[in-house]
Amino acid sequence: MKFHEMEIKQVEKVLETDFSSGLSTEEIKKRIAQHGHNELDEGEKQSALLLFFSQFKDFMVLVLLAATLISGLLGEYIDAIAIIAIVIINGFLGFFQERKAEKSLQALKELTAPQVSVLRDGQWLKIPSKEIVIGDILKFTSGDRIGADVRIIESKSLEIEESALTGESVPVSKSIDALQTANPGIGDMENIGFMGTMITRGSGLGVVIATGMKTAMGQIADLLQNAESQETPLQRRLEQLGKILITVALVLTVLVVVIGVFQGHELYEMFLAGVSLAVAAIPEGLPAIVTVALSLGVQKMIKKNAIVRKIQAVETLGCASVICSDKTGTMTQNKMTVTHLWSSGHTWTVDGVGYQPQGKFYRNEKTVHPKDEKALQQMLIFGMLCNHSDLVMNEEEIILDGDPTEGALLVSAMKAGFDRPALLKEFTVINEFPFDSARKMMSMHVKDKQGRHFIVTKGAPDVILGNCESILWEEKTQYLGQEIQNKVQDAINGLAAKALRTIAIAFKPVPAHTVIISEHEAEKKLTFIGVQGMIDPPRPEVKDAVKECKEAGIKTVMITGDHVITAKAIASQLGILTGKSKVLDGKALSDMSVEDLENVVEDVSVFARVSPEHKLKIVKALQNKGHVVAMTGDGVNDAPAIKAADIGVAMGITGTDVAKEASALVLLDDNFATIKAAIKEGRNIYENIRKFVRYLLASNVGEILVMLFAMILGLPLPLVPIQILWVNLVTDGLPAMALGLDRPEENVMKRKPRSPNEGVFSRGLGWKVVSRGFLIGLVTLLAFMIVYQNDSSRLDYAQTIAFATLVMAQLIHVFDCRSEKSVLSRNPFGNQYLVWAVISSLVLVLVVIYYPPLQPVFHTLPILAKDWLLIMGLSSVPTFLLAGSFLLRKTK
Ligand code: ATP
Repeated sequence: MKFHEMEIKQVEKVLETDFSSGLSTEEIKKRIAQHGHNELDEGEKQSALLLFFSQFKDFMVLVLLAATLISGLLGEYIDAIAIIAIVIINGFLGFFQERKAEKSLQALKELTAPQVSVLRDGQWLKIPSKEIVIGDILKFTSGDRIGADVRIIESKSLEIEESALTGESVPVSKSIDALQTANPGIGDMENIGFMGTMITRGSGLGVVIATGMKTAMGQIADLLQNAESQETPLQRRLEQLGKILITVALVLTVLVVVIGVFQGHELYEMFLAGVSLAVAAIPEGLPAIVTVALSLGVQKMIKKNAIVRKIQAVETLGCASVICSDKTGTMTQNKMTVTHLWSSGHTWTVDGVGYQPQGKFYRNEKTVHPKDEKALQQMLIFGMLCNHSDLVMNEEEIILDGDPTEGALLVSAMKAGFDRPALLKEFTVINEFPFDSARKMMSMHVKDKQGRHFIVTKGAPDVILGNCESILWEEKTQYLGQEIQNKVQDAINGLAAKALRTIAIAFKPVPAHTVIISEHEAEKKLTFIGVQGMIDPPRPEVKDAVKECKEAGIKTVMITGDHVITAKAIASQLGILTGKSKVLDGKALSDMSVEDLENVVEDVSVFARVSPEHKLKIVKALQNKGHVVAMTGDGVNDAPAIKAADIGVAMGITGTDVAKEASALVLLDDNFATIKAAIKEGRNIYENIRKFVRYLLASNVGEILVMLFAMILGLPLPLVPIQILWVNLVTDGLPAMALGLDRPEENVMKRKPRSPNEGVFSRGLGWKVVSRGFLIGLVTLLAFMIVYQNDSSRLDYAQTIAFATLVMAQLIHVFDCRSEKSVLSRNPFGNQYLVWAVISSLVLVLVVIYYPPLQPVFHTLPILAKDWLLIMGLSSVPTFLLAGSFLLRKTK
């Protein structure tokens, strides 16, 4: 169907839709049934069965299975079956862990899926783009990505960047006219918007003509299937470490086997023990547990309104040393209310609450009627006209639909008794030049009832002032001489010093029937009318968040398009601008190279009157100084800086699709304090990973050493293969996961950020692993020797004692791992998950010791009560010894 050749009325007919009310719910159901969801096919997923079998492709597991098979053939049926059962249970554990990791990554993807505005049953709704059907009417504005292929049916200066399809990065302007060209290429289809392309300017409406794989993007969808790798730096490091650990474990295992054989043990017996030991000691599950810990962390962050789009960010968050944050809406509430107005040398104040359109005007503290004040009146009317916001009455409150800055201007005019529908009867809008943060202005070309044409402009006062050549002073247009300019400037500064955001209003008459095509032409030689100043109160939680960041060694930098003085006032209120820190404005920033900026950037706490383009420079300069930078943003122009930052942060409410896609973190509530919460969580997750790495590796060291020591001393095997495998199974999985869920230590936001280059074993972790592992191995051996020396005829009993001691030493040691300091610095039982994990591990061990049918399988004998004293005494030695040495160091 050649929709580009049709007039829009015909498109409406062919698609059986209605441009004024959209499709009906009934019709949508039918169309979904007919065409399916608006999704692109993704690459083949690994099936569950394949994932399960992939758990056994590990080399050592295969060797173990082979060895077990041999022992089975030699008649050791019970051993063989038990070992295979354990290997299968282990496989299931690995399978579930990987499945969980995969599922949470998938859930995350769904959570960050784009939403679109669609007209259905006469109402505008936000829906996931997956639910779009042919015939739907979509609305899009600058920064959005189009959710499906559409025929444009309304264009307000609409420009779309289609490089995803055409490779051409220059945006194309779009119109609604039917095309005459016979077979236009994608780049020439000026009335079609394509799925996945990005609106760079203006806004528009489109009716959906193709969805899913039928779209132009769908045709090339295979290009999209090479998804980014989601491996984090820590995972990569652990994988490298894993390789080293495998080698070390294998070498030690071989050593155990060789020494054992040398000491007179049978080769076959030693071989099976060695392979079991290698399987137990190689931390093959570590990467999967890390992924699970990271994704559980992601889920915790969602509860705190932070969505991590890239799992790598969880780790990087903990390293953040600077947060560069927008002011408006992130640090402030973005609930603007005009409180002061200035024109013709007079200042008015206006009262009222929020967006309630009731309030009184005062001049020199006396109530005035705004309609008697001509200059004020003109400023209010134009502020209401050059405006897109609207108030919607809800059952309980008045809600603003649109930009809060414009909402404030709308409400100030309403307080004076003006009404927009009536105003729009007086003025017809001919053309519009939308606001952008770089120009800091917006204009409308309007015509009044008498046929007079005007340009009405509003924007940042200093910018507007620079574009004015005259001023409306007490109803008369005057030349804007230096003297008056100074007066205006003083007035602007006066408002800004009260922490008010300022907007100036200006206009110019233009001859009828002139066509003004560029904003540059529209916005010059203006006549200044006045300024409105609006409060935007800081979010109450931000001040504390800034303070907490400071204590955590993280600097907060405010970046804003607002006036320098306004920015300073708010930054001081929030504790961002203190002592020696400096303010830099956009002009100065433009004149600096990245290298120049590097010299001063660490002293600057506020960047004001900046354009989004400046943000990239700031990120680069900070990174060159060795900082790990979090940078927030919402618009299209913010995307490069968000991408370049170590942690790009996009606003969930006001953010555009493009900003969100570029980001690693999305703030659901647009709140600065949420960034802090995410950093805290990021630090905690990393610490938790350290905790279980430490626990697992120390346990493995203990397992290897007890065997090695025994062989060196010429003793029998202190543990039989099945016991080694069982220890590995019951002590590794659950307790390690529980450590991954631990709450942060109190001082987690009281230390400096971690260096991103920090190795896995830094800050003494390597020593902790080796020393704890050594002690665990030692006490296990001691327990074995004491019992065996006492009665060497009962080897089984001594092995059961060693088995119990090894398990107990690990399960006591796990509480030690909750703190980087010592077991005494935190309530050991403060982590409920850990307590339950340890109890279940204990039960699993006691079952194989005391449940008679399992005793022959695990070569165990019931342990006598008096021997538990020995086991408990010895297995708590490592933890007490280390707690003691900690106390000693502390008292020194
Ligand atoms: P940030 O969110 O980065 O703190 P900001 O929201 O204050 O910055 P911009 O939205 O770029 O920055 O606004 C810059 C200036 O442009 C404002 O100080 C204001 O004077 C002016 N301005 C803001 N919104 C509008 C608008 N809708 N129309 C005209 N001018 C505007």
